[in-house]
Amino acid sequence: MPHTSLAYFTDLVIKHFADVFYFDLGRYLIAAGAATILLFVFRGYAKHRRIQKRRASGKDYMREVLSSLRTVFFFGVTTMATLIGVETGVIRFAEEEASVFIIALHFAAIVLVHDAYFYWAHRAMHSKLLFRATHLHHHKSRTPTPWTAYSFSAWEAVIEAAFMPLFLLTLSLVGSAMAGFAVFLFLWHMIIRNVMAHAGHEIFPAGWVDNPLTSWISTTTHHDLHHSHSHNYGFYFTWWDKWMGTEHPRYKEEFRKNAKPLPIPWPKVWSLKGRRAEQISVMISLLLAASATMGLWSGAGTLALA
Ligand SMILES: [Zn+2]
Ligand SMILES: [Zn+2]
Repeated sequence: MPHTSLAYFTDLVIKHFADVFYFDLGRYLIAAGAATILLFVFRGYAKHRRIQKRRASGKDYMREVLSSLRTVFFFGVTTMATLIGVETGVIRFAEEEASVFIIALHFAAIVLVHDAYFYWAHRAMHSKLLFRATHLHHHKSRTPTPWTAYSFSAWEAVIEAAFMPLFLLTLSLVGSAMAGFAVFLFLWHMIIRNVMAHAGHEIFPAGWVDNPLTSWISTTTHHDLHHSHSHNYGFYFTWWDKWMGTEHPRYKEEFRKNAKPLPIPWPKVWSLKGRRAEQISVMISLLLAASATMGLWSGAGTLALA
């Protein structure tokens, strides 16, 4: 029997908002923190794969982290809306235990639909009418860093966070439902791909754009060109940019330049030495990512409803 009383929902929000906020925050801190640590430790490799000469300033990092916290808040609000939708019976998840095949199928479906949603929402936010109010903030990061992933204005955060409840609601309205675990996987995949797109260093292997088996998956160079120049509005895949003629004309050449194979003999690819500012930022990343991992591991941020 679905719940409908206001007191019940107030209680639900009070009880679970912190968990929901922590689940979204934890994913951001772990993904961006891990990328920062890996790029520091494998600095010989990263130096070789750096995309732009320009470096993000301390002020950029500060703005990115603070506005990402605001984005996490809006993700929390929409996750809460989803939970309320589930409690009222408006949003449904698949009830029976899903097989690995079904989970993979549902996961692929969400990624495909989100790719289209992101492309068109992104194109709309680049229109003269919406750009200043919604998307200018994200483009203050001309040289992306892993922390740029959630650096959105409040309006853009709402647009990005609205996808999940809208998608689940639409499916429920047509009498279909997703496996809960596929949604969980999708949320992790989304933040990991988002951080990879903003890594500032090409992390995909050389030859990626020239192999028909991989060229349809977008790379770091793909989104980095969007920040430094223009074009390339897509997220996970290159399809929409190809179909709509918005792919950067030099995308493949730029990728090949950025993803050149390491010279032989290999330079020293890992080291713990570095500039003081880098060491401090890595220590902070380590602390944030480790505490987020421990928090999620110990059960904070679980979405189980009492
Ligand atoms: Zn943009
Ligand atoms: Zn971006």
